Parts: sequence; structure tokens; C-alpha cells
Amino acid sequence: MISKKKDTAKKIPIGGMITEAGSSARFRTGSWKSKRPVIDESRCIHCMACVQFCPENCILIKNGKRGDIDLDYCKGCGICANQCPVKCIDMIQESKFEEK
Ligand code: SF4
Ligand code: SF4
Repeated sequence: MISKKKDTAKKIPIGGMITEAGSSARFRTGSWKSKRPVIDESRCIHCMACVQFCPENCILIKNGKRGDIDLDYCKGCGICANQCPVKCIDMIQESKFEEK
């Protein structure tokens, strides 16, 4: 039987810890972003700095090279753009990609 009682703060684990392993795949942090990283492919040297620094681990590796960014999990923090040694990642306002 499903309880109709609302959850209270008492249900939050101490420290707000995530206690259930493997739950991060369900939290699509990509919905947070206001800016989107766009890579200039012609200037990328595939150094993998962005892959290593991305806190969401959402810059994929394909055939030993830097691959696409999984935008479902990219939160738009801009760390990749900041760390890129050749500055080939631009952070573009998310509104520019919205259909009009
Ligand atoms: S903007 Fe942040 S979350 Fe998105 S790919 Fe770059 S480092 Fe990762
Ligand atoms: S940090 Fe820049 S140059 Fe290096 S792989 Fe990422 S996009 Fe390419």
C-alpha cells in the first residue's frame, strides 16, 4: 500500500549524502545549465585535459580521442573551457539553442 504522507526533512540522510549506489545516472544534471560548451573541432589537439577535469565525467572518449559531450549530464560549469590549453571550447548561452 502506498502511503499518502509527504516526506519530511527527517528522511534526508545526514549530511545530504547519497546513500544509494548507482543513482547518479538518474539525476540528469544537464538540466541545470545556462551555458553549453561548444568545441571547435578544427582546433582541438585531443590532449584530454577537458576529459580529466570535467566534474560530471560527461566528456566521452572515442577511439582513444576526445569524443562528444553528453549534454544530459553536462551542467555547464565551464571548467572544461577554462582548462583547455588551446581555448577551443566556448561556453554559449543555452537560449541560443532553443527553437524559436
Ligand atoms: S561545462 Fe562542466 S560539466 Fe559540462 S562538459 Fe564542461 S566541465 Fe563537464
Ligand atoms: S582540452 Fe581542448 S584541446 Fe584538449 S581535448 Fe579538450 S577540447 Fe580538445
